[in-house]
Amino acid sequence: MSGAPVVGVLALQGGFDAHARMLRDLGAGVREVRTPADLDGLDGLVLPGGESTTMTLGIAREGLAEPLAALVRSGAPVLGTCAGLIMLDRDHLGLMDIAARRNAFGRQLHSFETDLDFPDLDEPVHAVFIRAPWIEDHGPDVAILASVDGHPVAAREGDITVVAFHPELSGEHRLHAQFLDRVRARVSAAG
Ligand code: GLN
Repeated sequence: MSGAPVVGVLALQGGFDAHARMLRDLGAGVREVRTPADLDGLDGLVLPGGESTTMTLGIAREGLAEPLAALVRSGAPVLGTCAGLIMLDRDHLGLMDIAARRNAFGRQLHSFETDLDFPDLDEPVHAVFIRAPWIEDHGPDVAILASVDGHPVAAREGDITVVAFHPELSGEHRLHAQFLDRVRARVSAAG
């Protein structure tokens, strides 16, 4: 196989455009995903922020839950941000062993910014939170990467990485770069 890997960005609703731009800037091929056919042959998947109730309805309307789960179970790396984190949890797509708490930081605190240390990054990540969830509970295979006031806001399970904030809005490209490294590793392992 040759050429750039192709990653999908779920584009039913929400902030998919900024993700797509960042991934293209990093050299990936990007396909916006709106129907099951759009998932064919993807090497990885990004679930953006937005509104998880609207996204859930869109996924049901388009019949995307099953094919999306199949792609993830086949081992395609995933990056979920904010509402994307919620979509992956036990109560939504059920692809990650986490329970997300929506709007966890309180309704009055719609947005805030802070710097977070990640175990595998030298410099802190500047994190923009917008009506963000946190991870209320998680299983033993989930590694917590960062927390705010003791509440997990970034985690990894296998090749699925989730963050409760919006790296795509602060010009923070390292998490997307790590995601693409995983995608490329998987593509080359598959030959
Ligand atoms: N509050 C939104 C929800 O519960 C998520 C916010 C976001 O993605 N920025 O779906």
